[in-house]
Amino acid sequence: TVQKETLGFQTEVSKLLHLMIHSLYSNPEIFLRELISNASDAADKLRFEALTHADWLSEDPELKIWIDVDKEAKTITLRDNGIGMSRQEVIDNLGTIARSGTSEFVKNLTGDQKKDAQLIGQFGVGFYSAFVVAQKVEVYTRRAGVAASEAVKWESEGEGAFTVESIDKAERGTTIVLHLRPTQEEFADAFRLKNIIHKYAEHIAIPVCMKAQKWNDEGKEEVGDYEAVNKAAALWTRPRNEISEEEYQGFYKHIAHDYENPLAWNHNKVEGKLEYTSLLFVPKRAPHDLYQRDGVRGLKLYVQRVFIMDDAEQFLPMYLRFVKGIVDSNDLPLNVSRELLQSGKVVDSMKSALTRRVLDMLTSMADSKAEDYAACWAQFGNVLKEGVAEDQSNQDKVLKLLRFASTLSGDAVESVALADYVARMKEGQEKIYYLTAENFTAASQSPHLEVFRKKGVEVLLLTDRLDEWLMTHLTEFDGKQFQHIAKGDLDLGSLSSEEDKKAEEQLQETSQPLVERLQKILADKVQAVKATQRLTDSPACLVRSQYDLGAAMRQLLEASGQ
Ligand code: ADP
Ligand code: MG
Repeated sequence: TVQKETLGFQTEVSKLLHLMIHSLYSNPEIFLRELISNASDAADKLRFEALTHADWLSEDPELKIWIDVDKEAKTITLRDNGIGMSRQEVIDNLGTIARSGTSEFVKNLTGDQKKDAQLIGQFGVGFYSAFVVAQKVEVYTRRAGVAASEAVKWESEGEGAFTVESIDKAERGTTIVLHLRPTQEEFADAFRLKNIIHKYAEHIAIPVCMKAQKWNDEGKEEVGDYEAVNKAAALWTRPRNEISEEEYQGFYKHIAHDYENPLAWNHNKVEGKLEYTSLLFVPKRAPHDLYQRDGVRGLKLYVQRVFIMDDAEQFLPMYLRFVKGIVDSNDLPLNVSRELLQSGKVVDSMKSALTRRVLDMLTSMADSKAEDYAACWAQFGNVLKEGVAEDQSNQDKVLKLLRFASTLSGDAVESVALADYVARMKEGQEKIYYLTAENFTAASQSPHLEVFRKKGVEVLLLTDRLDEWLMTHLTEFDGKQFQHIAKGDLDLGSLSSEEDKKAEEQLQETSQPLVERLQKILADKVQAVKATQRLTDSPACLVRSQYDLGAAMRQLLEASGQ
């Protein structure tokens, strides 16, 4: 029975299609990367399901992708023998945007094509990029384990609706036919496609095959057998020195669904008691859901080259949730589940090793590529700050990665490392001085800074909402205590000269009557009135007691009902 039905795209998809077609026109070739990437995912999924359905793989065991071009018909055909899709899966996957965060996506659309094109990459909507080059797309697919007579054909011109019908299909997997738009006919060219495959899909783990092209003695083109265009080995299994930057970047884009290159990566093979390979990336830009409770995080997990799951969160702490990458273990069982990952020695020791790796990667970026690290801090600094509290065992490393604004840097950009601050400390200075405030202007104009300016002592200016919370977890760095300059008595330690001390005594004596009078007048408004040398230009300022909560902290607690 051939039941054909016409269905409408989810509204978001229609918006997206429109957007795609108009925003990717400058880089249409990425359609091939996205479709190859999907075929490769389909192979991964089949291999995984074959762990429990061995016959699904054994009936057609060599997983591949084949690409054909028809110059006359102006079509490109991509074929894979991966997992395929059932009728319902076709409707769900190729008619809606399934990932969580869909509405977020639509909310995030700005109408600015450049920005929106960046967003597309983060939402798992690669399939629809087919419509950038194709005016009509046909998908023929049969899921592993489903009868040949229950295969499905999907077809659409990308304008609001698609059709689905039942068909016969002998082989497992998916075939996609792209009918090129008249303006995109240049893609009906085998050489062009092979170049794109080298550029974007060299790292794909299975063969991406196209027919060999040869020229006979008369100079006419002859088409030979299928041959692999790419290297066809899982990228992380290859030796580091044989992998190009472009391949690492391409691989990152494949797994992270990002359109931009990563800032840094680290590829490492561990042998010994535990055996695993990791390939970790620091993105250039924070994903939209970095601060959402149910945001996507974690690594792609493989066990002995077999893809097991996306978003395995157990291998890195929360404060490194912006890191993308894969980990391939030889020690975990193939049937490992999310529940099993929750506890266990193997996972725990991998997690602490991977955490150190990421921190080392960030440290070396901070040491040798200051500009990249500044970009990284601007995107992920607030997340890294969480590590001060979350990860006591690596606190030293995390502290070295922190960056602050200060009276010396003179602008709101957080660029001062604690080590730099300490190196610049004045003779006799024992503490790291800081001030918290609502914003940078308020901080830098605070009267509390007067005496520090006079003495040429640098003060860190903390103006982020998180900073007061952060400082409750920070007691010292490099043996130096942190001191809030607007809390408690101002003790400049050895920074005060003998002269200062004499002046102080004198001040206390002469101001005694005034202090007492003010104390009476303000009795129900303040805890105490004190004479101070804190100020050089302003007549008076409010000071919080050493143990008082900061203003932002108080607001946070009030907001949470405490
Ligand atoms: P993503 O790959 O990020 O999930 P896509 O828009 O690229 O998003 O693909 C949507 C979904 O369609 C995939 O998750 C997958 O379930 C399904 N799909 C696409 N292409 C194939 C294919 N060749 N074989 C099997 N399923 C596919
Ligand atoms: Mg995809």
